[in-house]
Amino acid sequence: MSVRIQIYFCMRQSQLFLKTRKDFPKDEVAINAQLLIRGGFVEKIMSGVYAFLPLGFRVRDRVMSIIRDEMDKLGAEMLMPALHPRSLWEVTGRWKKMESIMYQFKDHSGKEVGLGPTHEEVIALIAKPVIESYSDLPLAVYQIQTKFRDEARAKSGLLRGREFTMKDLYSFHADTASLDVYYNEVKKGYLSVFSRCGLRAFVTEASGGDFSKEYSHEFMVAADAGEDITYLCRLCGFAQNKEISKAKKGSSCPGCKDGVIEEVKTIEVGNIFKLGTRFSEPVKLLFRDEKGGMKPVIMASYGIGVERLMGTIVESSHDERGIVWPEAVAPFQVHLLGIDGEDKDVSGFCKKVYDRLLKDGVEVLYDDRKGVSPGEKFFDADLVGIPWRVVVSPKTYAHEKIEIKRRNEKEATLLKVDEFLKMIKK
Ligand code: ATP
Ligand code: MG
Repeated sequence: MSVRIQIYFCMRQSQLFLKTRKDFPKDEVAINAQLLIRGGFVEKIMSGVYAFLPLGFRVRDRVMSIIRDEMDKLGAEMLMPALHPRSLWEVTGRWKKMESIMYQFKDHSGKEVGLGPTHEEVIALIAKPVIESYSDLPLAVYQIQTKFRDEARAKSGLLRGREFTMKDLYSFHADTASLDVYYNEVKKGYLSVFSRCGLRAFVTEASGGDFSKEYSHEFMVAADAGEDITYLCRLCGFAQNKEISKAKKGSSCPGCKDGVIEEVKTIEVGNIFKLGTRFSEPVKLLFRDEKGGMKPVIMASYGIGVERLMGTIVESSHDERGIVWPEAVAPFQVHLLGIDGEDKDVSGFCKKVYDRLLKDGVEVLYDDRKGVSPGEKFFDADLVGIPWRVVVSPKTYAHEKIEIKRRNEKEATLLKVDEFLKMIKK
C-alpha cells in the first residue's frame, strides 16, 4: 500500500520537487547544462559538481539501466571505494603521475589518501586472492561508481564533471588471444549501449595515454560541444583522431573509398584500453600457467561516463524550446497536462485518464499544478522534453477525448484514451 502511494506521488508534478527556471547560472555555457538546469533536472553546486533532482535522477537511472543491462552480459557487478591509500598508487607510480588530476590530501591522522579517478590499482589488488591459476581465467567485473577528477576545464556541464559516475569494467586474461576475443565483445556491447541511448557512436583508434603502451579505442559521438576532433566517414563509420590520422579532410575515405572524410567535433563517451601487464606486474597479480610457472595476468579496462552520456544525449537531441528525450532514457513516457481551469468535470476526467494510464503501466508525469496558465504548462512540457504530450482541456473533455502530440512533431491529434494506449503499446 505504501509503495503504491509513493509511486502515485512521484508522478504528480506538484510533488516532484521540480521548478523549471527562466534563469540559470550565468557561468554555464554548455547547452546540456543550460537545458538540464532550466528543466529542473540538475542543480549546479560548483564548477563540475551537480546535484540530480528527481527528474534528472530518473534519466540518469535509465541510462545506468541500459549500461547495466549490456554489462551484465560481460561480467558481474561489484563496488569499489572512492577513498584510496597513497601506498597503493605508489606501487604503480601513478600517485605522482596523476597528481594534477587526482584529489590527494592528508586525513586527520596525517595519512595520505586520494579520491579515485579510476580503479586499475584497486581492482588489481582485489583480484590477487581471486586469480590463482590459469583455470580461473578469463574473468571480468564491473562497477558503476563515483569518480573524482580535478578537471582544469570543467566548463562543459555534465560532459566534464569533477565528481561523476563511471561504469568501469576490468577484464583478466591468461593470454592475448583471450583478451582479443573479449575486447571485441565489449566493443559490441558498447555500441549497443550508445545506440540504445539514441546515439551513433564511432569507434576511433587512439593511443593508450596514461594507461597503456598498447592501443585503446574511443567511442565518439559527433556534437558541436565536443572537445575532440575526429576525421570520420559517416558512410562506413571509419573514424580516427585527427592527431594520429593519416587521412585528409575532404579526401575519399581510406576505409570504404566511397565516403568523404569530414572533420567533426566529437564527444568521447567511452574508452577501452588493453593494459597488458602494466598494472599486474607492479601489483604482483600473477597466475600459475599450465606448466606451473608464474606469469602476470593480462588486463584491460573499459569506461563509460554515465553523466557524460546523459549530457551527450541532450547535446544531440534538443531544439530551441528544450530537450527532446529519446524514449529509452526519457524520465517519463507521457506528460499529462491538466488544463481544467478548475472545472470539476474536466479535472475529474483528467484524473480518470491519469489513473487509466497508471493502471496500464504507462509512466506518466501529471501536471496537476493549480494556478499555472496553459501557456506555462505547454512551455514547460517542451522544455522538459517527455516523448508524448497528452492534454485534457474543456475542448477535449467535450469529445471525451485527449489531445496527443509527440515532442518531436508539430501536429496534435484527438483520440480516445484506449486508442492512445494501443498506439503507444505498439
Ligand atoms: P577526457 O579525455 O575527456 O578527459 P579521459 O580520456 O581522461 O576523458 P577516461 O579515463 O578514458 O577519460 O574515462 C573513461 C570515460 O569516462 C570517458 O570515456 C568518459 O566517458 C568518462 N569521463 C572521463 N572524464 C570525465 C569527466 N571529467 N566527467 C564525466 N565523464 C568523464
Ligand atoms: Mg579516454
